[in-house]
Amino acid sequence: MKKQTENKSIKKIPLERWTIDNSRDLYGIKNWSAGYFDISDDGEVVINSSGKSRNRFSVSLMSIISGIKDRGMNMPVLLRFRDILQSQITLLHESFKAAIKECGYKGEYKGVYPIKVNQQEQVVEEITRFGARYHHGLEAGSKAELIAAISLLKDREACLICNGYKDEEFVDLALYALKMGFKCFFVIEMPSELQLILERSEALQIKPLIGVRIKVSTRAGGHWTESGGDRSIFGLNMTQLLDVVDQLKEKDMLDTLQLLHYHLGSQIPNIRDIRFAVTEACRVYEGLVLEGAKMGYLDLGGGLAVDYDGSHTNFTSSRNYSLEEYCTDIIEVIMSTLDEKEIAHPVIVTESGRATVAYYSVLLFNVLDVSRFETFPYPEKLPEDTHETIVNLLDVLKSINVKNIQECYNDAIYYRDEIRQLFKHGNVSLRDRAISENIFWHIIKTIAENVKKLKFIPSELDGIDTSLADIYYCNFSVFQSLPDSWAIGQLFPILPVHRLNEIPDRNAVLADITCDCDGKIDKFIDQHNVSDTLSVHDLKPDEEYYLGIFLVGAYQETLGDLHNLLGDTNIVSVKITENGEYEFIREIEGDSVQDILSYVEYDVKALVTQFREMAEESIRKGYITPKDRQNIMKAYKKGLRGYTYFER
Ligand SMILES: *Cc1c(COP(=O)(O)O)cnc(C)c1O
Repeated sequence: MKKQTENKSIKKIPLERWTIDNSRDLYGIKNWSAGYFDISDDGEVVINSSGKSRNRFSVSLMSIISGIKDRGMNMPVLLRFRDILQSQITLLHESFKAAIKECGYKGEYKGVYPIKVNQQEQVVEEITRFGARYHHGLEAGSKAELIAAISLLKDREACLICNGYKDEEFVDLALYALKMGFKCFFVIEMPSELQLILERSEALQIKPLIGVRIKVSTRAGGHWTESGGDRSIFGLNMTQLLDVVDQLKEKDMLDTLQLLHYHLGSQIPNIRDIRFAVTEACRVYEGLVLEGAKMGYLDLGGGLAVDYDGSHTNFTSSRNYSLEEYCTDIIEVIMSTLDEKEIAHPVIVTESGRATVAYYSVLLFNVLDVSRFETFPYPEKLPEDTHETIVNLLDVLKSINVKNIQECYNDAIYYRDEIRQLFKHGNVSLRDRAISENIFWHIIKTIAENVKKLKFIPSELDGIDTSLADIYYCNFSVFQSLPDSWAIGQLFPILPVHRLNEIPDRNAVLADITCDCDGKIDKFIDQHNVSDTLSVHDLKPDEEYYLGIFLVGAYQETLGDLHNLLGDTNIVSVKITENGEYEFIREIEGDSVQDILSYVEYDVKALVTQFREMAEESIRKGYITPKDRQNIMKAYKKGLRGYTYFER
């Protein structure tokens, strides 16, 4: 749903009266942080170890940054907070547990983590290790994910759900896993898969556990919902589903059909869509039970959304429900549908990926440079012989008021274009063109100031702030670290991690260091809107300025690409200790330049050899001395070993 454009100019708060509460409001931190992040009295973002729970300990991100710097590591750094991951898994299970108890549901809840959401070994390992107390399982969508899953998952009570296209190798591995005691389900996504599974199970003499994936007709709103609904590429339609039933009946194997699965898509912002889909799936479940299938498991897939903008609405970057409502609604719908036909309550499985890992990671980086929006003086009175169009432009500037801003905007654009034409034809001098540009930017600035006084902004003037924004050049790559921001315009909470007791009185868009015109962020979360600029502080000389991008634990890490050969960032995993200190429990060094070059098939040794030969030739030609060659080769090799990002 598109939100209405409503004016939200920063309240004019005097410099000296700015407090951390103003920053809390401005960045909406309480709305999206789920209690994991807050601002300390001295204006720094702090991380709280276990969200909203009572015994939490907070640590400032700035003290973590200084710990990172002291160890000689450079920005950008991706921080992972193990405590948050554990807290999210606990919350998911405890919420389902509470809802099950409250509603008197007779089945239990089993969560699985879909590996594709963040496949990093450390992430999957921590989920399986910590999740064991809740029998939290894994979902594998490919052979590689299955191979990772069966080594990392030690808990035989946990579910191992196999989705995705399955070849013979995949099927054999999953059957062996089943034989070793894993609750390993084949989810049939395509009609042709059943044949192969039955063949291999007969050959290996292992009876499979079978699930079926259906296409539900519910179409949910949001970015990722193509994977649900009638048109989705995965899943069986009702005819194909019954065909599976009939084939199993024929082989007297209907007892192997135990699970029904659907996946509506990721980040479902509206609880209504979730309820509709569960209802539909319950009816199918009921039908399968009546057909004589054993059943017992209902797998609702992923879709549990993250409230990235904190607006608590059905906007794509948000969700209009709480975790408690999600659990209760699902259970109520299942009970009310299945109780009618006296069908036993199934084990509920969900495959929440995004909601499990999004909060876990924070990307930190420094600002390298700023290009400030500035206006320059123009003459109050133009010389007699000034071209008429420039005189007209100045008249526009002098006549702006709240009532005529749209008209003035149109006129200004018209005269500016006219003057450019005149310049091209040699009718306006270079100096006159410079003067007219200064006048033009004064007009835009004055209009932007007046726009702030309007209740509703004409669509053409919405975002006029952006053209007046500073550009903050930041030490990271959107393509590598925030692919969904670039690819589908997803919003993430972004804010300075310090100086939040000072007024952030500059408006900026962020540019990354790829120098690609798409390598920028110019859409930011806002309570009532999407904002085109981010409020930031003026840079101080000789002081680094750090920004954080939050909630980046889901989908961002491995979708990233090597645009401009900027590689993986440094990763530091942090544990918050009981006395409010932190420990680095794991560090993963980011890619070096030679790592990246070898990913794209360069032979680093050969590069060094070629460069050395070139240096030697330069000696022969008299460009450099042998001593120069030594220094040049040192610099080249140092460059190869270095970080791909900007190093200070
Ligand atoms: C991607 C995917 C998920 C994860 O969805 P989230 O919205 O991240 O929880 C779950 N199940 C399947 C089949 C998926 O493809």
